Amino acid sequence: MDTKNFDAIVIGSGIGGSACAALLSAEGFKTLVLEKNKEIGGMCSSYKKQGFILDSAIHVFSSGIKGRFGKIMKRIKLDNLKFVNITDKNAIRALNQKGYTKLAMSPNTIEKNKGANLKNSDKIDLSAMGFEKEDMKVFIRIIGNILQTSRRKLREMHEQKLSLESYLDQFNPSKGVKSLLAFLTGGMFGISPKMASAPEFIQGLTEWIVTNDLSYPIGGAVAVPHAFLDGVKKFDGEIYTNTKVSKILIENDKVIGVQLVDGQIIYSNLIISNAGIKPTVLKLVGTEYFTSDYVEKVKNLISSYSAITFKFALKEPIIENYVFVNLYHGDLSAFGEKKRPPNSPKATGFMVMIPTNADPNLAPRGNQIVIFGTLAPTRKKNWDKWTDHYYNEILKFYPDIEDKMIFVDITTPEDLAALSGKSFGPIETTALTPEQSGPYRISSELPIEGLYVVGDTAGTNTHGIGTQLAADSALKLAKLIIQKYKPKRRE
Ligand SMILES: Cc1cc2nc3c(=O)[nH]c(=O)nc-3n(C[C@H](O)[C@H](O)[C@H](O)COP(=O)(O)OP(=O)(O)OC[C@H]3O[C@@H](n4cnc5c(N)ncnc54)[C@H](O)[C@@H]3O)c2cc1C
Repeated sequence: MDTKNFDAIVIGSGIGGSACAALLSAEGFKTLVLEKNKEIGGMCSSYKKQGFILDSAIHVFSSGIKGRFGKIMKRIKLDNLKFVNITDKNAIRALNQKGYTKLAMSPNTIEKNKGANLKNSDKIDLSAMGFEKEDMKVFIRIIGNILQTSRRKLREMHEQKLSLESYLDQFNPSKGVKSLLAFLTGGMFGISPKMASAPEFIQGLTEWIVTNDLSYPIGGAVAVPHAFLDGVKKFDGEIYTNTKVSKILIENDKVIGVQLVDGQIIYSNLIISNAGIKPTVLKLVGTEYFTSDYVEKVKNLISSYSAITFKFALKEPIIENYVFVNLYHGDLSAFGEKKRPPNSPKATGFMVMIPTNADPNLAPRGNQIVIFGTLAPTRKKNWDKWTDHYYNEILKFYPDIEDKMIFVDITTPEDLAALSGKSFGPIETTALTPEQSGPYRISSELPIEGLYVVGDTAGTNTHGIGTQLAADSALKLAKLIIQKYKPKRRE
């Protein structure tokens, strides 16, 4: 590698890193992206196997081009990122006419769909999670209240550090309503209503409903970071994969560059780490460069739960009509509490993506990819016990899946940790709890000159679900860096 000086070095090519690198490149910063993995994209990466292109994790995007991704693509003046909108009836109709897909979202029960193809069950059935007909009134009241929340009220809730659970108390929710809200919070933030920030949940859900842009990218999840990195290349930036940073170098309280695992040093006065705030502070820089208070603060940050995923490559379709399905049974109302899901593998809940129903080119002709994802704790476990349990649960939903199977790849929190470089592979690196969101969210700006972190790990007043949160962090950090450094560079 040519070790010439770069205006900015970005460590990691997840959504946050690739977006920030693209935004800076578009503003004339000579940018270098260093990615430790063979493939780019972090949690949104994909890999190829026997003609299939499989997402490394499991993703549906609460917003496609209408959200922050569109904003970024506009800034970097590229239009090569395309999504299938799962909620857009016209898009669905057009795809159906092509004969390969129909898109819908429907929680279903083991009992009702045992062995069944979901073909004719367009109706949303929530009874499996204990949500009964009479619960609908209260649920609608809650959604109405959420949609009417003013910005001022959101600010007040942030200041009060209000949890979602405390916010819901005013509605006196039944077990069924709690179950449904736990299902939503788990899906959106990978945490329970007890842990989640009320204003963050309200903002995330409102954005999701109002934007009406639930999407999946053509090309798989990795198409998003790929498109951003196309922006880096377009503006003469450079990207190196298989390149792990082992140290961020500091001299006189300023960053001066990075050292790679092979000992090579690359200089820059601006380092943006997408590797997570904990690994960045505690490992890449080293605690000796920070005050003990700051180190304590970083150590105390908590992440969301992790996940176990099952990626089935199938000879023929098992789910014809959906891109996104939710399978649940059991009472989720105590979700997140001791011995309750995801702390015990007993209750079942799967988010299911069928990427080939959005983009058939992800598999050989006629074959199908079905990915099942379920929450898992971020602690060392005997994962075999968990994967065996969940695998058997999948067989209850789809008894003939093994007859159609070419292979199945299973990822545990350990695999996700290896992928992202973050302990136990959390869904969101710094969970959206009341203490860690809005004005209290830890800053992207580290107390060392020229050092920043980006992604779902940090960024005061950054918002959104997963990838939107990471993209928001990139947009806000890029703005700050451009304001701070660009005039100096032009001198
Ligand atoms: C199972 C699962 C399901 C999810 N489902 C959804 C969903 O449906 N919708 C949604 O919006 N979000 C979802 N998310 C969350 C979403 O994936 C993340 O919020 C987002 O992708 C995080 O992006 P990031 O840029 O912060 O970091 P990451 O994607 O974690 O990227 C970090 C990058 O840094 C690299 N790196 C780390 N250390 C080094 C080093 N020393 N040198 C070089 N490179 C390094 C890593 O290899 C990686 O590429 C899910 C996450 C998981 C795990």
